[in-house]
Amino acid sequence: MAKVLCVLYDDPVDGYPKSYARDDLPQLDGYPGGQTLPSPKALDFTPGALLGSVSGELGLREFLESQGHQLVVTSDKDRAGSVFDQELPDTDIVISQPFWPAYLTPERFEKAENLKLVITAGIGSDHTDLDSAIAHGVTVAEVTYSNSISVAEHVVMMILSQVRNYLPSYQTVLEGGWKIADCVSRSYDLEGMHVGTVAAGRIGTAVLRRLKPFDVHLHYTDRHRLPAEVEQELGLTFHESAADLVPHCDVVTINAPLHPETEGLFGEKLLSTMKRGTYLINTARARITDPDAIVQALESGQLAGYAGDVWFPQPAPADHPWRTMPHHGMTPHISGSTLSAQTRYAAGTREILESWFAGTPIRDEYLIVDGGNLAGTGAHSYSAHR
Ligand code: NDP
Repeated sequence: MAKVLCVLYDDPVDGYPKSYARDDLPQLDGYPGGQTLPSPKALDFTPGALLGSVSGELGLREFLESQGHQLVVTSDKDRAGSVFDQELPDTDIVISQPFWPAYLTPERFEKAENLKLVITAGIGSDHTDLDSAIAHGVTVAEVTYSNSISVAEHVVMMILSQVRNYLPSYQTVLEGGWKIADCVSRSYDLEGMHVGTVAAGRIGTAVLRRLKPFDVHLHYTDRHRLPAEVEQELGLTFHESAADLVPHCDVVTINAPLHPETEGLFGEKLLSTMKRGTYLINTARARITDPDAIVQALESGQLAGYAGDVWFPQPAPADHPWRTMPHHGMTPHISGSTLSAQTRYAAGTREILESWFAGTPIRDEYLIVDGGNLAGTGAHSYSAHR
């Protein structure tokens, strides 16, 4: 029987919801490109419920306990002597979400002697030290595609909110004012701008597709080029690298995983090659940037705006400089944790667990590390140090 340690964000401050804003979720037939939705044998939760917080338990308790497994759920993960650290040594399976990541460092891998499987309920397994997972023969899996469209929608929202100067204008309303000139003196149309994505995987491509009707010029870079028919359909300009792409763009959106190739990519050097007044949107991972260089670029006007929802560490401390830097549109890490996305990644987590306990293969597209190597999606999108 397995011990499953699940690290989730805290419940709402007013308590776990008793009702929701809407009564149902739209029915989806599948993901773009044909990947099927998560397909566990059953679900023990109502789609649209808050599953990602401690009381939501990703809807897993009944399923796990009915099979004799133990489920421990906590939000206490970072302080010395946290519940996470106390429970880890005899845990078989760790589950956490990138929004409230259980950082599985090399030191924690050393202590987690029973650990066999790490699941990201969501996408992006960089909070797990993949080199350690490879060295310890631990399998790492994530629910590929579960929240890619959720994030793409957030990116489009943030691009528009930055370019149109939405947030300061909303603030004027809250303050009882009518300061039109103050609001519009930083407001532009997106139409005609050059927008580029660093990486055109599931999220990056979905962003490009959603922006096409805005009559913008679309650019991208990626390790693998998109099919010629997609480039033609969307009118894409391909660039060999981020360095080649950014000088051409008015808006840049980062949609690459964090791994050794992308860590620190958006530092002072790359930022200095961008057009003055570029907007940078990052919902990928904070450590793809140099945080201090972002603050300086906003203060100097090199960047006109920065928005995103990814920070390091998470949760971000109250005095994190990104909370107070000028012209930012940051949210906490929420874009991939809509109630719609939670339904999909909770179902995908259960599907992974069902496969694991049955001894049947986990879907290739969910695998990041398996059998001591990068595997599945991990082998395609990530890189290891070794
Ligand atoms: P995908 O794996 O579909 O796409 C990632 C793309 O990045 C791939 O096309 C990959 O290239 C490309 N890539 C990898 N390294 C580089 C590089 N050095 N330069 C250029 N391109 C590169 O993932 P998703 O689109 O679903 O997600 C992307 C990232 O977004 C996740 O890894 C995660 O960090 C983040 N994310 C954030 C969420 C949030 O809530 N804010 C939620 C979900 C994801 P190729 O495969 O062609 O080699």
